[in-house]
Amino acid sequence: MIVLGIETSCDETGIALYSGEQGLVAHRLHSQVATHAVYGGVVPELASRDHVRRVVPLVQDCLAEAGLAAADIDGIAYARGPGLAGALLVGGSIADGLGWALDCPVLGVHHMEAHLLAPMLEPNPPAFPFLALLVSGGHTLLVEVADIGRYRVLGESLDDAAGEAFDKTAKLLGLPYPGGPQLEALARDGDPDRFRFPRPMTDRPGLDFSFSGLKTAVLKAVREADADDATHAAIARAFQDAVVDTFAIKVRRALEQTGVGHLVVAGGVGANQALRDRLHQVAESRGAVMACPPLAFCTDNGAMIAYAGYRRLLAGERETGPVDIRPRWPMDELRVPGPAG
Ligand code: ATP
Ligand code: MG
Ligand code: FE
Repeated sequence: MIVLGIETSCDETGIALYSGEQGLVAHRLHSQVATHAVYGGVVPELASRDHVRRVVPLVQDCLAEAGLAAADIDGIAYARGPGLAGALLVGGSIADGLGWALDCPVLGVHHMEAHLLAPMLEPNPPAFPFLALLVSGGHTLLVEVADIGRYRVLGESLDDAAGEAFDKTAKLLGLPYPGGPQLEALARDGDPDRFRFPRPMTDRPGLDFSFSGLKTAVLKAVREADADDATHAAIARAFQDAVVDTFAIKVRRALEQTGVGHLVVAGGVGANQALRDRLHQVAESRGAVMACPPLAFCTDNGAMIAYAGYRRLLAGERETGPVDIRPRWPMDELRVPGPAG
Protein backbone atom coordinates (compact mmCIF):
# COMPACT_ATOMS: atom_id res chain seq x y z
CA MET A 1 0.00 0.00 0.00
CA ILE A 2 1.37 3.42 -0.99
CA VAL A 3 0.09 6.44 0.91
CA LEU A 4 0.56 10.07 -0.07
CA GLY A 5 0.87 12.39 2.94
CA ILE A 6 -0.01 16.09 2.76
CA GLU A 7 0.97 18.40 5.62
CA THR A 8 -0.29 22.01 5.46
CA SER A 9 -1.29 22.79 9.05
CA CYS A 10 0.93 25.84 9.49
CA ASP A 11 3.84 27.32 7.60
CA GLU A 12 5.42 24.23 6.04
CA THR A 13 4.20 22.35 2.99
CA GLY A 14 5.29 18.75 3.56
CA ILE A 15 4.62 16.00 1.06
CA ALA A 16 5.71 12.35 1.27
CA LEU A 17 5.06 8.87 -0.05
CA TYR A 18 5.07 5.98 2.42
CA SER A 19 5.08 2.38 1.19
CA GLY A 20 3.91 -0.44 3.44
CA GLU A 21 6.56 -2.68 1.91
CA GLN A 22 9.50 -0.27 1.53
CA GLY A 23 8.88 2.41 4.15
CA LEU A 24 9.35 6.05 3.29
CA VAL A 25 10.08 6.29 -0.46
CA ALA A 26 10.06 10.08 -1.02
CA HIS A 27 9.58 13.31 0.89
CA ARG A 28 9.71 17.01 0.10
CA LEU A 29 9.37 20.10 2.22
CA HIS A 30 8.83 23.74 1.44
CA SER A 31 9.29 26.06 4.41
CA GLN A 32 7.59 29.47 4.35
CA VAL A 33 9.92 30.88 7.00
CA ALA A 34 11.26 33.58 4.64
CA THR A 35 7.70 34.64 3.73
CA HIS A 36 6.69 35.21 7.34
CA ALA A 37 10.02 36.34 8.84
CA VAL A 38 9.43 40.02 7.97
CA TYR A 39 6.20 39.95 10.02
CA GLY A 40 7.84 38.23 13.01
CA GLY A 41 5.27 35.40 12.93
CA VAL A 42 3.03 33.33 10.67
CA VAL A 43 0.45 35.33 8.65
CA PRO A 44 -2.38 32.80 8.14
CA GLU A 45 -3.65 34.11 4.80
CA LEU A 46 -0.16 34.16 3.29
CA ALA A 47 0.36 30.61 4.55
CA SER A 48 -2.82 29.33 2.85
CA ARG A 49 -1.96 30.99 -0.44
CA ASP A 50 1.53 29.56 -0.49
CA HIS A 51 0.27 26.03 0.24
CA VAL A 52 -2.03 26.35 -2.80
CA ARG A 53 1.02 27.02 -4.97
CA ARG A 54 3.28 24.34 -3.49
CA VAL A 55 1.31 21.15 -2.92
CA VAL A 56 0.89 19.81 -6.46
CA PRO A 57 4.47 20.48 -7.66
CA LEU A 58 5.82 18.81 -4.51
CA VAL A 59 3.57 15.79 -5.09
CA GLN A 60 4.99 15.57 -8.62
CA ASP A 61 8.55 15.82 -7.26
CA CYS A 62 7.86 13.01 -4.78
CA LEU A 63 6.39 10.74 -7.46
CA ALA A 64 9.45 11.38 -9.67
CA GLU A 65 11.84 10.69 -6.76
CA ALA A 66 10.09 7.39 -5.99
CA GLY A 67 9.76 6.44 -9.67
CA LEU A 68 6.01 6.10 -9.25
CA ALA A 69 2.97 7.31 -11.18
CA ALA A 70 -0.05 9.03 -9.59
CA ALA A 71 -2.05 5.86 -10.33
CA ASP A 72 0.24 3.93 -7.93
CA ILE A 73 -1.11 5.88 -4.95
CA ASP A 74 -3.44 3.68 -2.88
CA GLY A 75 -4.51 6.20 -0.26
CA ILE A 76 -4.13 9.86 0.69
CA ALA A 77 -3.67 11.32 4.16
CA TYR A 78 -3.84 14.99 5.04
CA ALA A 79 -3.44 16.91 8.29
CA ARG A 80 -7.02 17.51 9.48
CA GLY A 81 -5.92 19.51 12.54
CA PRO A 82 -5.00 21.06 14.85
CA GLY A 83 -3.66 24.05 12.92
CA LEU A 84 -4.63 27.13 10.94
CA ALA A 85 -8.10 26.70 9.39
CA GLY A 86 -7.28 28.13 5.95
CA ALA A 87 -4.01 26.24 5.70
CA LEU A 88 -5.66 22.94 6.73
CA LEU A 89 -8.43 23.50 4.17
CA VAL A 90 -5.91 23.75 1.35
CA GLY A 91 -4.37 20.36 2.13
CA GLY A 92 -7.76 18.78 2.78
CA SER A 93 -9.31 20.08 -0.44
CA ILE A 94 -6.39 18.96 -2.58
CA ALA A 95 -6.42 15.54 -0.90
CA ASP A 96 -10.15 15.26 -1.55
CA GLY A 97 -9.79 16.24 -5.21
CA LEU A 98 -6.87 13.88 -5.77
CA GLY A 99 -8.73 11.04 -4.05
CA TRP A 100 -11.69 11.57 -6.34
CA ALA A 101 -9.49 11.74 -9.45
CA LEU A 102 -7.43 8.68 -8.48
CA ASP A 103 -10.39 6.80 -7.03
CA CYS A 104 -8.60 6.05 -3.76
CA PRO A 105 -9.51 6.57 -0.08
CA VAL A 106 -8.71 9.83 1.69
CA LEU A 107 -8.23 10.32 5.44
CA GLY A 108 -7.65 13.35 7.64
CA VAL A 109 -5.13 12.64 10.41
CA HIS A 110 -4.29 14.34 13.70
CA HIS A 111 -1.16 16.50 13.34
CA MET A 112 0.03 15.77 16.89
CA GLU A 113 -0.56 12.03 16.53
CA ALA A 114 1.62 12.27 13.43
CA HIS A 115 4.36 14.10 15.41
CA LEU A 116 4.10 11.41 18.09
CA LEU A 117 4.40 8.53 15.62
CA ALA A 118 7.34 10.08 13.71
CA PRO A 119 9.93 7.95 15.60
CA MET A 120 8.23 4.87 14.06
CA LEU A 121 9.89 5.90 10.78
CA GLU A 122 13.24 4.94 12.34
CA PRO A 123 14.89 1.51 12.12
CA ASN A 124 14.46 0.90 15.89
CA PRO A 125 10.93 2.10 16.63
CA PRO A 126 9.83 2.56 20.26
CA ALA A 127 7.68 -0.20 21.77
CA PHE A 128 4.21 0.41 23.21
CA PRO A 129 3.36 1.49 25.81
CA PHE A 130 5.51 4.62 25.87
CA LEU A 131 5.58 8.09 27.32
CA ALA A 132 5.65 10.89 24.74
CA LEU A 133 6.85 14.43 25.31
CA LEU A 134 5.43 16.50 22.44
CA VAL A 135 7.08 19.88 22.32
CA SER A 136 6.27 22.00 19.29
CA GLY A 137 5.36 25.52 18.22
CA GLY A 138 1.79 25.19 19.42
CA HIS A 139 1.80 22.32 21.91
CA THR A 140 3.48 21.05 25.07
CA LEU A 141 2.05 17.65 25.97
CA LEU A 142 3.06 14.70 28.11
CA VAL A 143 1.09 11.75 26.79
CA GLU A 144 0.87 8.15 27.93
CA VAL A 145 0.59 6.13 24.74
CA ALA A 146 -0.87 2.64 25.24
CA ASP A 147 -1.06 2.05 21.49
CA ILE A 148 -1.82 3.96 18.31
CA GLY A 149 -4.99 5.93 19.05
CA ARG A 150 -4.94 5.19 22.79
CA TYR A 151 -3.70 8.41 24.33
CA ARG A 152 -3.95 9.79 27.85
CA VAL A 153 -2.79 13.37 28.24
CA LEU A 154 -0.93 13.51 31.57
CA GLY A 155 0.15 17.13 31.40
CA GLU A 156 0.12 20.18 29.16
CA SER A 157 1.09 23.82 29.14
CA LEU A 158 -1.36 26.18 30.81
CA ASP A 159 -0.10 29.10 28.71
CA ASP A 160 2.70 29.36 26.12
CA ALA A 161 3.84 26.24 24.27
CA ALA A 162 7.52 25.29 24.59
CA GLY A 163 8.33 26.39 21.03
CA GLU A 164 6.44 29.62 21.54
CA ALA A 165 8.53 30.29 24.65
CA PHE A 166 11.73 29.69 22.64
CA ASP A 167 10.52 31.94 19.81
CA LYS A 168 9.38 34.78 22.09
CA THR A 169 12.60 34.64 24.14
CA ALA A 170 14.65 34.62 20.94
CA LYS A 171 12.76 37.72 19.81
CA LEU A 172 13.59 39.48 23.10
CA LEU A 173 17.24 38.69 22.39
CA GLY A 174 16.97 40.22 18.93
CA LEU A 175 17.09 36.93 17.03
CA PRO A 176 15.02 36.49 13.84
CA TYR A 177 11.84 34.35 13.68
CA PRO A 178 11.55 31.43 14.33
CA GLY A 179 14.20 31.76 16.96
CA GLY A 180 14.34 28.30 18.57
CA PRO A 181 17.33 26.96 16.63
CA GLN A 182 19.15 30.32 16.80
CA LEU A 183 18.59 30.57 20.53
CA GLU A 184 20.11 27.11 20.92
CA ALA A 185 23.18 28.17 18.92
CA LEU A 186 23.58 31.37 20.99
CA ALA A 187 23.19 29.45 24.28
CA ARG A 188 26.15 27.22 23.37
CA ASP A 189 28.59 30.08 24.08
CA GLY A 190 26.71 31.38 27.11
CA ASP A 191 28.06 31.48 30.65
CA PRO A 192 25.78 29.07 32.54
CA ASP A 193 26.33 30.75 35.93
CA ARG A 194 25.52 34.40 35.23
CA PHE A 195 21.73 34.19 35.27
CA ARG A 196 19.25 31.81 36.81
CA PHE A 197 15.58 31.66 35.83
CA PRO A 198 12.72 29.81 37.57
CA ARG A 199 11.76 26.20 36.81
CA PRO A 200 8.02 26.85 36.59
CA MET A 201 5.57 24.53 38.41
CA THR A 202 8.25 22.03 39.46
CA ASP A 203 7.84 22.77 43.19
CA ARG A 204 4.36 21.21 43.32
CA PRO A 205 2.97 17.84 42.27
CA GLY A 206 1.46 17.38 38.83
CA LEU A 207 2.65 17.25 35.26
CA ASP A 208 1.40 20.53 33.78
CA PHE A 209 3.68 23.27 32.49
CA SER A 210 3.69 27.05 32.37
CA PHE A 211 6.19 29.10 30.40
CA SER A 212 4.84 32.64 30.37
CA GLY A 213 6.48 33.57 33.70
CA LEU A 214 9.83 32.42 32.38
CA LYS A 215 9.43 34.76 29.44
CA THR A 216 8.75 37.63 31.85
CA ALA A 217 11.88 36.76 33.85
CA VAL A 218 13.91 36.88 30.63
CA LEU A 219 12.36 40.23 29.69
CA LYS A 220 13.39 41.66 33.07
CA ALA A 221 16.95 40.35 32.68
CA VAL A 222 17.25 41.77 29.16
CA ARG A 223 16.07 45.20 30.35
CA GLU A 224 18.35 45.31 33.38
CA ALA A 225 21.56 43.86 31.91
CA ASP A 226 23.96 45.18 29.30
CA ALA A 227 23.04 44.50 25.69
CA ASP A 228 26.38 42.95 24.70
CA ASP A 229 26.73 39.58 22.97
CA ALA A 230 28.13 37.74 25.99
CA THR A 231 25.18 38.87 28.12
CA HIS A 232 22.66 37.78 25.51
CA ALA A 233 24.38 34.41 25.19
CA ALA A 234 24.31 33.99 29.00
CA ILE A 235 20.58 34.83 29.07
CA ALA A 236 19.91 32.37 26.23
CA ARG A 237 21.84 29.71 28.15
CA ALA A 238 19.98 30.35 31.40
CA PHE A 239 16.62 30.25 29.60
CA GLN A 240 17.43 26.98 27.85
CA ASP A 241 18.75 25.47 31.09
CA ALA A 242 15.49 26.41 32.85
CA VAL A 243 13.36 24.81 30.11
CA VAL A 244 15.52 21.68 29.92
CA ASP A 245 15.50 21.30 33.73
CA THR A 246 11.73 21.72 33.82
CA PHE A 247 11.20 19.01 31.21
CA ALA A 248 13.70 16.71 32.90
CA ILE A 249 11.87 16.99 36.24
CA LYS A 250 8.42 16.38 34.72
CA VAL A 251 9.53 13.56 32.44
CA ARG A 252 11.22 11.78 35.37
CA ARG A 253 8.02 12.16 37.36
CA ALA A 254 5.89 10.83 34.48
CA LEU A 255 8.19 7.85 33.94
CA GLU A 256 7.92 7.03 37.66
CA GLN A 257 4.15 7.46 37.63
CA THR A 258 3.49 5.32 34.53
CA GLY A 259 6.30 2.79 34.87
CA VAL A 260 6.67 2.60 31.08
CA GLY A 261 10.01 1.60 29.60
CA HIS A 262 10.11 3.84 26.52
CA LEU A 263 10.24 7.60 26.10
CA VAL A 264 9.52 9.41 22.83
CA VAL A 265 10.49 13.05 22.35
CA ALA A 266 8.95 14.69 19.29
CA GLY A 267 7.97 18.07 17.87
CA GLY A 268 10.21 20.96 16.80
CA VAL A 269 11.68 21.67 20.25
CA GLY A 270 12.68 18.00 20.31
CA ALA A 271 15.36 19.02 17.82
CA ASN A 272 17.13 20.84 20.68
CA GLN A 273 20.31 18.90 21.45
CA ALA A 274 20.62 20.04 25.06
CA LEU A 275 17.07 18.80 25.71
CA ARG A 276 17.74 15.50 23.94
CA ASP A 277 20.95 14.88 25.87
CA ARG A 278 19.34 15.63 29.20
CA LEU A 279 16.22 13.53 28.61
CA HIS A 280 18.42 10.72 27.41
CA GLN A 281 20.13 10.77 30.82
CA VAL A 282 16.78 10.88 32.63
CA ALA A 283 15.48 7.89 30.63
CA GLU A 284 18.69 5.94 31.19
CA SER A 285 18.64 6.55 34.93
CA ARG A 286 15.13 5.03 34.98
CA GLY A 287 16.17 2.07 32.81
CA ALA A 288 14.03 3.43 29.96
CA VAL A 289 14.92 3.74 26.27
CA MET A 290 14.54 7.11 24.54
CA ALA A 291 13.56 7.47 20.89
CA CYS A 292 13.51 10.65 18.80
CA PRO A 293 12.63 11.15 15.16
CA PRO A 294 15.53 12.21 12.92
CA LEU A 295 15.94 16.01 13.11
CA ALA A 296 14.15 16.60 9.79
CA PHE A 297 11.07 14.81 11.11
CA CYS A 298 10.92 16.68 14.44
CA THR A 299 9.46 19.80 12.87
CA ASP A 300 6.51 19.68 10.47
CA ASN A 301 6.85 17.28 7.56
CA GLY A 302 4.81 15.13 5.19
CA ALA A 303 6.44 11.84 6.17
CA MET A 304 4.77 11.74 9.59
CA ILE A 305 1.36 12.46 8.00
CA ALA A 306 1.86 9.74 5.39
CA TYR A 307 2.87 7.26 8.12
CA ALA A 308 -0.02 8.08 10.50
CA GLY A 309 -2.39 7.90 7.52
CA TYR A 310 -0.90 4.59 6.41
CA ARG A 311 -1.51 3.02 9.84
CA ARG A 312 -5.13 4.17 9.91
CA LEU A 313 -5.96 3.47 6.24
CA LEU A 314 -4.43 0.00 6.59
CA ALA A 315 -6.82 -0.68 9.47
CA GLY A 316 -9.73 0.24 7.19
CA GLU A 317 -10.38 3.75 8.48
CA ARG A 318 -12.01 6.00 5.87
CA GLU A 319 -13.25 9.54 5.51
CA THR A 320 -17.02 9.33 5.90
CA GLY A 321 -17.97 12.61 4.21
CA PRO A 322 -16.48 15.65 2.53
CA VAL A 323 -13.31 17.36 3.83
CA ASP A 324 -13.65 18.00 7.52
CA ILE A 325 -10.93 20.06 9.18
CA ARG A 326 -10.48 20.45 12.96
CA PRO A 327 -8.40 23.58 13.77
CA ARG A 328 -8.83 22.61 17.45
CA TRP A 329 -8.81 18.90 18.13
CA PRO A 330 -7.97 17.49 21.60
CA MET A 331 -5.76 14.41 21.34
CA ASP A 332 -7.71 12.30 23.76
CA GLU A 333 -10.70 12.35 21.38
CA LEU A 334 -8.74 10.00 19.09
CA ARG A 335 -9.68 6.32 18.87
CA VAL A 336 -7.80 3.20 17.83
CA PRO A 337 -7.51 2.85 14.03
CA GLY A 338 -10.39 1.02 12.41
CA PRO A 339 -13.40 1.31 10.09
CA ALA A 340 -15.61 3.00 12.71
CA GLY A 341 -12.88 5.63 12.98
P1 ATP B 1 2.28 22.38 16.26
O1 ATP B 1 2.88 21.09 15.83
O2 ATP B 1 2.07 22.46 17.73
O3 ATP B 1 1.09 22.74 15.47
P2 ATP B 1 4.42 23.63 14.78
O4 ATP B 1 4.09 22.58 13.80
O5 ATP B 1 4.56 25.02 14.32
O6 ATP B 1 3.38 23.55 15.98
P3 ATP B 1 6.95 22.35 14.91
O7 ATP B 1 7.15 22.55 13.44
O8 ATP B 1 6.86 20.96 15.40
O9 ATP B 1 5.76 23.21 15.48
O10 ATP B 1 8.13 23.06 15.67
C1 ATP B 1 8.45 24.41 15.47
C2 ATP B 1 8.94 24.99 16.79
O11 ATP B 1 10.10 24.28 17.21
C3 ATP B 1 9.29 26.45 16.71
O12 ATP B 1 8.75 27.11 17.83
C4 ATP B 1 10.82 26.43 16.76
O13 ATP B 1 11.41 27.58 17.29
C5 ATP B 1 11.07 25.22 17.63
N1 ATP B 1 12.42 24.67 17.43
C6 ATP B 1 12.93 24.13 16.30
N2 ATP B 1 14.21 23.76 16.48
C7 ATP B 1 14.52 24.07 17.78
C8 ATP B 1 15.69 23.94 18.59
N3 ATP B 1 16.82 23.42 18.11
N4 ATP B 1 15.63 24.36 19.87
C9 ATP B 1 14.49 24.87 20.38
N5 ATP B 1 13.36 25.04 19.67
C10 ATP B 1 13.37 24.65 18.38
MG1 MG C 1 6.37 25.13 11.57
FE1 FE D 1 3.75 20.59 14.07
